[in-house]
Amino acid sequence: MRWKIKPEQVEPVRQLVRSGCCNCSDGNCLLLDDGDAQTCVQLICSSAIYCRHFRENVLPAEKELYETIIKQNKEVY
Ligand code: SF4
Repeated sequence: MRWKIKPEQVEPVRQLVRSGCCNCSDGNCLLLDDGDAQTCVQLICSSAIYCRHFRENVLPAEKELYETIIKQNKEVY
């Protein structure tokens, strides 16, 4: 499942990744690390929420942003 986001939500999402995701280390994702640093996919996405961990465990902490994104994507449920 992928939730679309609006251009004005891209930067708030990126800020939340950096401040709220425990797997984000200097813009890289510790979960994706296979011995080489792997860029966080959510930091390079500008149109949707692609990371399930972020969607389920990090984004809900920002209630207003979370609810707005859910509302604008409710047709995909
Ligand atoms: S890809 Fe997901 S889990 Fe990994 S750092 Fe980015 S937001 Fe966090």
